Amino acid sequence: MFGNDIVMGLPMSKQKRTANRFGLGVAALAVLVAGACVVEGKVDEGENDPLRDGTASSLPAAVAPSGYPGAPGLGDSFYPQLGNGGYDVLHYAIQLDVDPIPNTIQAQTTIIAAATQDLSAFNLDLAGLTVESVLVNDNDAEFSRQDTELTITPDATLLQGEEFSTKVTYSGSPMPLSDPGVPFSEIGWHNREGLIYTASEPSGSMSWFPSNNHPTDKATFEIQITVPSTFTAAASGVLVNETQSARRTTTTWQMDDPMATYLTAVYVGDFERVENRQADGLLIRDYVPREHFDVVVDALAETPQMIEYFEGILGPYPYAVYGSVVMPFPLGYALENQTLSLPALDTIDPLIVAHEISHQWIGNSSTVDDWSEIWLHEGFATYLTSMYLAEHHGQDINEDMRRNYAFMSEPAAVAPQQISQGQLFDASVYLRGALTLHALRQFVGDDLFTTILRTHYQQSINANTNTAEFLAIVRRLANQEAADLVEQWLNNALMPPLPPPLTPPPNLNQSP
Ligand SMILES: [Zn+2]
Repeated sequence: MFGNDIVMGLPMSKQKRTANRFGLGVAALAVLVAGACVVEGKVDEGENDPLRDGTASSLPAAVAPSGYPGAPGLGDSFYPQLGNGGYDVLHYAIQLDVDPIPNTIQAQTTIIAAATQDLSAFNLDLAGLTVESVLVNDNDAEFSRQDTELTITPDATLLQGEEFSTKVTYSGSPMPLSDPGVPFSEIGWHNREGLIYTASEPSGSMSWFPSNNHPTDKATFEIQITVPSTFTAAASGVLVNETQSARRTTTTWQMDDPMATYLTAVYVGDFERVENRQADGLLIRDYVPREHFDVVVDALAETPQMIEYFEGILGPYPYAVYGSVVMPFPLGYALENQTLSLPALDTIDPLIVAHEISHQWIGNSSTVDDWSEIWLHEGFATYLTSMYLAEHHGQDINEDMRRNYAFMSEPAAVAPQQISQGQLFDASVYLRGALTLHALRQFVGDDLFTTILRTHYQQSINANTNTAEFLAIVRRLANQEAADLVEQWLNNALMPPLPPPLTPPPNLNQSP
């Protein structure tokens, strides 16, 4: 995410002053990334396990194989109740029949999952809406709801290792949610006078589909969306089918690479689809608001060059398609929805367009395993963007870092790994996160720095990662001293000294 005010924790007047100092046009906004760090197995599910307390042998034989309920959360440091234990989702098939005015959906989400324990019951995360029925393996299942937990009790125990399907039929008027990590905006499903977009980081996807809502459980997706034919719909992934009947248009989108729930996007509005192909064949399709066509097409013209630049550093673009859906109004932020970023009229300058593109590698494919690790998304995206702007816009990266450093020297500033939930998108994870990488680069040199970035990404493609894994790479490829330096930047209350300028102002792609 990128916000026009990254500096959430400071008074607005100071935020504005800072934005001007940065000369960003749009100051950074911090978007939400949810990387939950707790792997399912890390949560102690044993509390509910009648087989674990030694009494199993005394239970009647008929009780022993009944399994036990999956945990209602995965124990994320900031969002302990997000996600659910006891199963691993493999695939979501979401069908949405949408009436943008007055914002109603009739929907069905089918989830293919594998049980990771014997399950007597399990949870999905869903906020609002009316659940009409739940089928597990095509049989009616009992369900109940409390807050954002949808608890499902199948008619027979699901055995560990078993693949099973859950079909939830639901309807209503999806509404955006408030999230303690995102004090500056509601998140999830938004409808502005019939124009629909989803901005869900970190918890908002449960405003429109039931899921295991934590980035540690990525899955493939198929999204089918039906809208009145006067509207255009778009969603994450590749458009594989389009049909029309009775003045309604149905489009089907496939995301065959793993995707975290928070990055799953749908859009409905009055857009024109603009297609381009990169030299290597990558399809770039943007959805442009007709009334701002020329200015938006111009603003997105650098997209292929940005993708090529990040490919040069990190490796091939991770997905089959890319593009942006640009909102025809100011939004204050942009978000890296997978394969289909969400910017707006006020967030399409090169700084932000490049930031969201870099997230397709770092954040979307390589995703944190706990939301408290978010600097790994935002610090990387901020630094990679500074590198791009140095390469292609002649911006001085030393000056960028000097400004970041001056701003992070404010007494109230927090270290990137010392943030609280309410500081999820604090300026620190962006600016001091980027300074951390800058200091590492200055310490190890351009060649080794590039190797470290690429190794970090390539070890976590389509998977999850964390700071400990990053530090292990730094230690292995450089040395303990370099890893210690990174740790100080991430954790010390007192920020280490600004590293000396890189000379000559560097350009990683030209380094030998
Ligand atoms: Zn970001």
